[in-house]
Amino acid sequence: MSAVALHARPSDNFQAKLAHTAAVLTAAAAEHGSRIVQATSLGAEDMVITDLIARWHVPMAIGTLNTGVLHSQTLALLTRIQAHYGLQIRVMQPQREAVVQFVTRNGERAMYQSLELRQACCAVRKLEPLRRLLESKTAWITGLRREQSDHRAAVPLSEQEANGRLKLNPLADWTWGDVWHYIAINDVPYNALHDQFFPSIGCAPCTRAIALGEDFRAGRWWWESENTKECGLHVRAAEGVAA
Ligand code: SF4
Repeated sequence: MSAVALHARPSDNFQAKLAHTAAVLTAAAAEHGSRIVQATSLGAEDMVITDLIARWHVPMAIGTLNTGVLHSQTLALLTRIQAHYGLQIRVMQPQREAVVQFVTRNGERAMYQSLELRQACCAVRKLEPLRRLLESKTAWITGLRREQSDHRAAVPLSEQEANGRLKLNPLADWTWGDVWHYIAINDVPYNALHDQFFPSIGCAPCTRAIALGEDFRAGRWWWESENTKECGLHVRAAEGVAA
């Protein structure tokens, strides 16, 4: 059964949430101009935002990270997005030399050896390219939702980061059913892995399908305890890890 058939169930106030999200994107683009970017993981939530940007002709840059170890389905989606919407997505890659050094020193499977090595891999492949994507930006858009995990249960609609940059999470109060309802009614392209029980998709070595009844993010870093399951992209400085 497809992810659309399984999950598309809108909330009673779906239309109000949708109108609010579109208004937030439009206002943010007007306020920040070329200094705002949607940082997309190419997951279902981010596809909703990208579709809104395209549908409402919101003048906003879109960027993503190619860590070098993404699933082929994720890379295929990137190509499909650009063809479907005619949008240019800025693709940030880790610094080749840093990746070679990390892998030479720690091996291809370092992420399974310790939390420190897993976070070090995320730092090289994700955090550093994200830092460059956000360089000179005054605001960025994410697809974080409160429902995604206990760790994200308090995600605000907007927050000022320690560095002064505004982080907007316009889907914070959307449900998984809302996301898939939007995708269904707007025929939004999405990652084929979502149809194979991958609700949350990251790098290939660190993502697996989930079983019936498992948590939304059970397929991410499944060998770690629940409270370490963030790559640092969305961990607040107050919690001790650079965002
Ligand atoms: S998610 Fe896994 S493979 Fe990707 S950067 Fe983090 S540790 Fe490395």
